[in-house]
Amino acid sequence: MTTIKTTCDQCGEIHLGTADIALELEGNGDEGNYRFVCPECYLVQRRPASARVVSVLLATGVSYEVTLAPAAPLCDDDIDRFARELASDDWFERLLSLGGSSEGLRS
Ligand SMILES: [Zn+2]
Repeated sequence: MTTIKTTCDQCGEIHLGTADIALELEGNGDEGNYRFVCPECYLVQRRPASARVVSVLLATGVSYEVTLAPAAPLCDDDIDRFARELASDDWFERLLSLGGSSEGLRS
């Protein structure tokens, strides 16, 4: 089994198995954070993962989840465009035609 060496804030150097680590990828997936529970003190900890760390962890078979980067804040243009869309008569039909799970809305 692959052993991953990292440090715990409380315990210092610790050794983890791939199942003990969850990788959280952000944005385009090059970087993110990894999360683990220290096997000695059971504290959940989180560390930044550089592109190199991400590729090493993925290569060892650590499971991962992708978290989307925070969206850019709304600006006045977005709000104007949204208001214009809502002012049109067929916005709801066009929204439905985009697909997705609209079943609950039709009843
Ligand atoms: Zn610890």
